[in-house]
Amino acid sequence: MSDREQRDAIRERHRAARRRALDGLTVASWIDGRSVGDGDTADPDTDVTETRATRDPVIDEPIVEVPVATADTVDAAVTAAQATFDDEWGATTPRERSHRLHEWTDVLSDHVDELTLLESLDTGKPIAEARGEVEGAIDTLEYYASACRVQTGEQIPAGSDLHMYTRTEPFGVVGQITPWNFPAWAAAWKLGPALAAGNCSVLKPSAHAPLTTIRMAQLSTEVLPDGVCNVVTGPGSTTGSALVEHDGVRKLSFTGSGDVGTEVMRTVASRLAPVTLELGGKSPFVVFPDADLDTVVEAVADGIYYSTGEICDALSRALVHEDVYDEFVARFVEQSRSYVLGDPLDEETTMGPLTTADQFETVTEYVDVGLEAGATLATGGGTPDDGALKDGHYVEPTVFTDVDNDMRIAREEIFGPVQTVQSFATYEEAIELANDTPFGLAAGIGSESSDLIHHAAADIEAGVVYVNAYGPIRPEGPYGGFKQSGIGRDLGEEALTHYRQTKTVYVNLDEPSV
Ligand code: NAD
Repeated sequence: MSDREQRDAIRERHRAARRRALDGLTVASWIDGRSVGDGDTADPDTDVTETRATRDPVIDEPIVEVPVATADTVDAAVTAAQATFDDEWGATTPRERSHRLHEWTDVLSDHVDELTLLESLDTGKPIAEARGEVEGAIDTLEYYASACRVQTGEQIPAGSDLHMYTRTEPFGVVGQITPWNFPAWAAAWKLGPALAAGNCSVLKPSAHAPLTTIRMAQLSTEVLPDGVCNVVTGPGSTTGSALVEHDGVRKLSFTGSGDVGTEVMRTVASRLAPVTLELGGKSPFVVFPDADLDTVVEAVADGIYYSTGEICDALSRALVHEDVYDEFVARFVEQSRSYVLGDPLDEETTMGPLTTADQFETVTEYVDVGLEAGATLATGGGTPDDGALKDGHYVEPTVFTDVDNDMRIAREEIFGPVQTVQSFATYEEAIELANDTPFGLAAGIGSESSDLIHHAAADIEAGVVYVNAYGPIRPEGPYGGFKQSGIGRDLGEEALTHYRQTKTVYVNLDEPSV
């Protein structure tokens, strides 16, 4: 087939997949157990006045128009969530919530294929990656369905005339905002601990990739009370701001960029609501001279090329000991060239396009920035030659060498498949370079020495450290950043604590009168 015929075939395949994925699906906000803003409602407050298309990044066509939730719609969602919290969910026991959440994961498990297709079309993720993230989302919800039951309070010794104990209580309505780079999984990171702790949620997914989040909420309808899990759709500047500004939102959890996170924090600070922020990164992977290069080359590649580099903990700065630098670069370039860029619906595709046209612009601009600063392009930097992929936002796996830590490509989050490689001579220099960044989300360490590994894991300023591999991220482990990469943690038992508040009860006891 010629390039043109292949391109047409990909278009037709995606249009057919889109029809299949959208068949019978209502794409709109999900509030109080029903679709809102889909044009069917008689409620003037939630009538559709504006829609925003979510696009297929492979063929650059709209998938579906999604109604934009207005401030009134957001208010309806918060009101419904509060009513459900007051009437029902806030009074449930952890045992009851655990059962409901487990039932939800059973329903979701029956819809893995459907969710996987939606996720791949919406983000451009290779189908295997999308499936892994949908399964990861279900696993995360299962973890919180179980962890929910081990919530306890304390009894505090205070003498025979005072009985002191603590209760942990939910906030009520929590607002949650997620980005476009791992939508289903991110939704589970937010909803799992929030609902397990007894809150009701109003979640706003990114307008660039809202489909799986909407569907997950719809699939909760048989098992969770209406109003527990609400989704509002629309861009951050309108729908997102309305959620952040809403007085009824008693706690806010945000995942996204540092700039927006700062604005969110400023807004909720005006009413002193607690906030969790999961932000960006510029994470190092330190390759020590005793590293097993076969293992580490693969780990560094996974760390930067997973999700086409659109991942907050991308290990985007390889810091390599000078003794193994040349060999590492040669092998890493070869590994980078081995990625199969293609249609994400093909199982053999290992790298898809960037999710948005804006992100494509950003990443290609950074390639120019690197070249202008004097870095050497060791491989990639362009769009693939394959004419069949010309419609999509594809960028080749890209490696820069001769990088200085002051260069913008070494300091700023690119959020694409662009790796920088720098060398170091001593342990101290490695740690200094690793920590010379405003971020502190993640780090990788490549070494065969347990002494070196544990020292470096302690010395690097990062919330997550991967040794001789990238991931796998598991819901049991708290996830989040040091420094400008965030405040608080998603995942793990720690996330549950962010969705509860502690009450200390003092009961004064009289002497027994009998
Ligand atoms: P973004 O900050 O542009 O948007 C994130 C979310 O915030 C979206 O839902 C968006 O609609 C919403 N939003 C935008 N402006 C808003 C406003 N004024 N008020 C309220 N909500 C608003 O980020 P993005 O481009 O969607 O995602 C990429 C960024 O997310 C990267 O910086 C990445 O590192 C970060 N990220 C961090 C983590 C983590 O766990 N630390 C995970 C994934 C992504």
